[in-house]
Amino acid sequence: MKKQLAVGILSVSLGLFPFQPLQAAWDTPTIAAISDGLDAFWGGVLRRVGIRYSYPVVYSHDNVESTPCGPSTLAHYCSGSNTIHLNMAQLDRLVHHIGDSAGYFALAHEYGHSVQRHLGLLDKNLPIVVLELQADCLAGAFFAASDQIGILEPGDLKEGAITAMMTGDYDYEHTNHHGTPQQRGRAFLNGFNDPQSCFK
Ligand SMILES: [Zn+2]
Repeated sequence: MKKQLAVGILSVSLGLFPFQPLQAAWDTPTIAAISDGLDAFWGGVLRRVGIRYSYPVVYSHDNVESTPCGPSTLAHYCSGSNTIHLNMAQLDRLVHHIGDSAGYFALAHEYGHSVQRHLGLLDKNLPIVVLELQADCLAGAFFAASDQIGILEPGDLKEGAITAMMTGDYDYEHTNHHGTPQQRGRAFLNGFNDPQSCFK
């Protein structure tokens, strides 16, 4: 995904001329830029329904298995502190195998949980799998917005879908079941094709 996402979203909302594309990367400045883009995108969406978005703080850890709110193998959202924790050792490995948007899918998924928190959905005792699939859908909605402003590169959508599928499981009985690979891949693509469907 291209770095100037935040700039892109801002320039579109301000009606400015599109920016010059840069090369894709999975590095600290680009992750920060995509985080800014996620802030801007969800800030705008929530503003339209009268909610002020408190941007989550994103922490990159060299390799953490635990966060303030529990274990994390890849990425984790802590609702109490509204923080996102990225396990860079794991994410770097995933990005190496799949591509940069594997990491951006994970980041966008965690942002999805922060959006759920703002909508009060985390207090409703919904099954984990429902929340997880919605977070995948919301990640897809963000990829769609990225596509609209021309910063999605060839392969990014596929990389996101592959990552969604790879992080699925068949652990139906487990309370932490996140959805099957098929369900997760579909939820992400549904969000991309029809962002409104994430809230139905
Ligand atoms: Zn999740």
